[in-house]
Amino acid sequence: MSHRETKTDVILIGAGIMSATLGTLLKELVPDWKITVFEKLSKAGEESSNEWNNAGTGHAALCELNYTVEKPDGSVDISKAININEQFQVSMQFWSYLVNSKLINNPQDFIMPLPHMSLVEGEQNVTFLKKRFEALSNNPLFQGMKFSDDPKKLMEWIPLIMQERTSNEPLAATKIDSGTDVNFGALTRMLFDHLESNNVDLNYNHSVNDIKRTRDGLWELKVRNLDSGTVERHTAKFVFIGGGGGSLHLLQKSGIPEGKHIGGFPVSGIFMVCNNPNVVAQHHAKVYGKAKVGAPPMSVPHLDTRFIDNKKALLFGPYAGFSPRFLKTGSMFDLVTSVKPDNLLTMLSAGAKSMSLTKYLIQQVILSKEKRMEELREFIPNAKSDDWDLVVAGQRVQVIKDTEAGGKGTLQFGTEVVSAADGSIAALLGASPGASTAVHVMLEVITKCFPEHISEWERKIKEMIPSYGVSLLETPDLLREVHTSTAQSLGLSEKKRTLS
Ligand SMILES: Cc1cc2nc3c(=O)[nH]c(=O)nc-3n(C[C@H](O)[C@H](O)[C@H](O)COP(=O)(O)OP(=O)(O)OC[C@H]3O[C@@H](n4cnc5c(N)ncnc54)[C@H](O)[C@@H]3O)c2cc1C
Repeated sequence: MSHRETKTDVILIGAGIMSATLGTLLKELVPDWKITVFEKLSKAGEESSNEWNNAGTGHAALCELNYTVEKPDGSVDISKAININEQFQVSMQFWSYLVNSKLINNPQDFIMPLPHMSLVEGEQNVTFLKKRFEALSNNPLFQGMKFSDDPKKLMEWIPLIMQERTSNEPLAATKIDSGTDVNFGALTRMLFDHLESNNVDLNYNHSVNDIKRTRDGLWELKVRNLDSGTVERHTAKFVFIGGGGGSLHLLQKSGIPEGKHIGGFPVSGIFMVCNNPNVVAQHHAKVYGKAKVGAPPMSVPHLDTRFIDNKKALLFGPYAGFSPRFLKTGSMFDLVTSVKPDNLLTMLSAGAKSMSLTKYLIQQVILSKEKRMEELREFIPNAKSDDWDLVVAGQRVQVIKDTEAGGKGTLQFGTEVVSAADGSIAALLGASPGASTAVHVMLEVITKCFPEHISEWERKIKEMIPSYGVSLLETPDLLREVHTSTAQSLGLSEKKRTLS
């Protein structure tokens, strides 16, 4: 058995959007650091980051109703929406920098302009949407948002949804034309192509099985070469665990105290994809509804125009479900083997608290196609079963941890960077808002893990992301400049960019 051993500056585990983004940022900041990537599958971007495994929404809080909550006094809290929008602007600036510097080409292959809409039914929901609209539309981050409860206007905006609608319930929608559809799979592949041609050592079919600290403070990884069956040992000064759903197990193997008392709760997803081009052609927007009472935020239904392989597509979902796997290609034992003595109590408390969620998710798994069609018909009243096929989406692993507000075993819906106190290793856990905020989250990894370099790197970071360290909301001139320049660099400003 031959053993390959290497020593390097940085190891990135996993070839998803997170490792792609961190690798690209580091390449710009310190071009001579040696970076090695290990990915257990045969290509980049095959798990959650793949275009068929996520919804491709450029999450800027333009349409997601769960980012704006109604407070007990009836007002709408938009602080989370502001945060997420600012984070998305960071991604937009970095992607523009990459295009302008010709590090990646053809932005239309990964980002397309697409109106983002919220749609609600029923008087109470219409009142909420109007209040939300009033709170957001006065805010410069959300400029250009329109509201309508006029059926004629709605017919113009969303004919597929309005045709043959028989319900007498009031309907209302908001629409903002500066939304995007992002093909995160294509972007991930572009970034890895760029890294490969810049001396990054990419190793596909390599599964990381163990992570241990060496006596001299480095990290040693035990990696199985799935082609040859041999086990290799690779050492690095810094390790990023970007394994998506696989990250929790790897974090646990590292043994760092920061990774204790954390658990994972897997949620699977299914989309319906339309196979009838006549139906696909009648819709041009991402339309987000409101989660049903008792349903978790990741099961908010939406009807999305998508741009995949240079073709327009129409997807509905995701229908959330339960599966014990942590990756789409993971094992049925993932959930069980993630329970360790240190997180047992946290997991048990979460189990007790999340009974109704688990029940909901299990019920969702066993829904028949016809039952799923009924949910789709709340959006497209005349949807025909033959026009729609089921596709299995990616797995999400929600973080479970003990929090002051929620107590032991609280389910988290965001993303979390967990890093060692000395900054030598970091992991990304959680799923939402996910890929859209990859640049912001990877900058967080950089700030936490390389504090000694930040002052030296700040100029370059600002060159790539002019709003770095600044609130766009508080600097209207910069916001205008960012909106205009990113739309131009990414080709989003051309009116009605369409596909042949
Ligand atoms: C149904 C669904 C809808 C979503 N919708 C959106 C959306 O609309 N907008 C949005 O911004 N985000 C969305 N997300 C979230 C987004 O997809 C994820 O946040 C993002 O793709 C995570 O990227 P990642 O690089 O962390 O993980 P991944 O893309 O999953 O990559 C992790 C990689 O690590 C590899 N790996 C794992 N373990 C090992 C190991 N031991 N050794 C070697 N390799 C390993 C895996 O094979 C995989 O390739 C959605 C997610 C889901 C599931």
